[in-house]
Amino acid sequence: MYRTHTCGELRLEDTAATVTLTGWIQRIREMGGMTFITLRDRYGITQLVFDEHTPLPVSEKLHGLGREFIIRITGKVRERASKNPAMPTGDIEVSPGELEIVNRSEVPPFTIENDTDGGDELRMKYRYLDLRREPLQNNMMLRHRMAQEIRKYLDEHAFVEVETPFLIKSTPEGARDFVVPSRMNPGEFYALPQSPQTFKQLLMISGYDRYFQIVRCFRDEDLRADRQPEFTQLDCEMTFVDQEDVLNTFEGLAKHLFRVVANYEYKDRFPRITYDDAIKYYGTDKPDLRFGMKIAEITPQVQGSGFKVFDDAGYVGGITAGGCAGYSRKQLDELTAFVKKPQVGAKGLVYVKYHEDGTFKSSVDKFFEEKDFQEWARAMNAHPGDLMLILAGKREQTLSALGVLRNEMGNRLGLRDPDAFAPAWVVDFPLLEWDEQEGRYSAMHHPFTSPKDEDIPLYETNPGEMRANAYDFVINGVEIGGGSIRIHTRDLQEKMFHALGISKEEANAKFGFLMNAFRYGAPPHGGIAFGFDRWCAVMGGSDSIRDYIAFPKNNAGRDLMIDSPAPISQEQLNELQIKLVDQQNKKE
Ligand code: ASP
Repeated sequence: MYRTHTCGELRLEDTAATVTLTGWIQRIREMGGMTFITLRDRYGITQLVFDEHTPLPVSEKLHGLGREFIIRITGKVRERASKNPAMPTGDIEVSPGELEIVNRSEVPPFTIENDTDGGDELRMKYRYLDLRREPLQNNMMLRHRMAQEIRKYLDEHAFVEVETPFLIKSTPEGARDFVVPSRMNPGEFYALPQSPQTFKQLLMISGYDRYFQIVRCFRDEDLRADRQPEFTQLDCEMTFVDQEDVLNTFEGLAKHLFRVVANYEYKDRFPRITYDDAIKYYGTDKPDLRFGMKIAEITPQVQGSGFKVFDDAGYVGGITAGGCAGYSRKQLDELTAFVKKPQVGAKGLVYVKYHEDGTFKSSVDKFFEEKDFQEWARAMNAHPGDLMLILAGKREQTLSALGVLRNEMGNRLGLRDPDAFAPAWVVDFPLLEWDEQEGRYSAMHHPFTSPKDEDIPLYETNPGEMRANAYDFVINGVEIGGGSIRIHTRDLQEKMFHALGISKEEANAKFGFLMNAFRYGAPPHGGIAFGFDRWCAVMGGSDSIRDYIAFPKNNAGRDLMIDSPAPISQEQLNELQIKLVDQQNKKE
């Protein structure tokens, strides 16, 4: 028998019991003729104590032990003299009468502690050791709980879990496909799904009514810190629903998860913000609603005074940082440098300090008078003691820069409470966006998203103005999910492809199966997909999805542990009838 209890289980009531434990050695400490070993498994840590009562054969083995050895001990539970309230097992210790080494360990390349000394690369290479650490174990447990609770909730709401294939062809999410050569069909390739989008729509046509799947998706994109080439979606679709039905269903799920996973009660209805308002007031379609500090436009108030930067700008607007009128030169310089960073993209920053005594001090004092500043303060809801931060330029870019500045000020002022959750639905997205490079429209969500009924006539006249039945789910400024009510008739789908500049032939080749399915009684339907890894990270209060994926890839898309991607053998290449360009060049 390896164990009677786990390493997280024993309590004061177990005092005097004889127990057997097996686990990893976390630490060995020698103190005043006694040896303490902390023994670890997934469930916790138990302290073992070796002293003058320890039988000789056991104490003789002690000097041969090291970190991460697995040992099995049998011994008596006793009450600790100095209890450790921070440890669930901190009231007791075990005094082993038998000890056996189950397996030895080399000295691990980094310490298996909460604050490890291992760098990123090293921990990725030895991910199986990193996964032994408590913070990562907690993340994996949170992920597990999320998945179980999602299944439970959706099952109770009549959703059916259906798997869809991985070896498919191009999907419509707009990223690059990962492709897989087919040995049996030389010269032909499968694509891995960027999402199960078309399959879940087909399942609605098949009459399954409510579908979900926790499913891997693959997108060959340049990786940013919070992206992974393979990631997991909670993918859902529903029949005979309108937008509000979908939002309410998943608002219920989100509240359930807040409650059971994060112990967070969210009673109110989630705010619904139109895309236009999100951009106008927060400069982004994923606003962090944990704090206010809305953006205010002051273009009409500031133009015509001879200050060229404002006079020439398409848009002038700003945010008001409450209680910051006392900001120093240095702090203002820092903010100016911040907005000029390429990721933020502003040319400069104008500030107006609204002093407690009602006077103003500004970087544009030369061009404006007190009564101007008063007018701005009214428009920007600034009061004595506040600091107005103003940017000017092209509308879209300036709003976006203000959005970034708003988040930065939120950070500086501690307004982004790590223990709070501020969910929101962003609705009424534009259907199409103009692609400068390609010189044509592309779908803002994907080509199966339906326009608002009242906007359908705009296909003919002004497609760029059409709004979609599309929505995003945001928590704390992070996009957690997105979906839409779909097109379910051939006619409208054809119109959409046409608006996107996709020819009939191309539409047929790529999505003919779906267009055909639309011939056979396709029901109105809609759905949503959530980034599961990201949702877990946000629920765990982190912004790193990598910490919530057991075996993630690095920023170059590599798995450092198994060392992949890697070349394949010439036999494999031959079998697939693939010639590598490089190899050819070498031969020539
Ligand atoms: N397939 C979409 C996506 O991956 C989600 C949806 O429309 O349901 O973003």
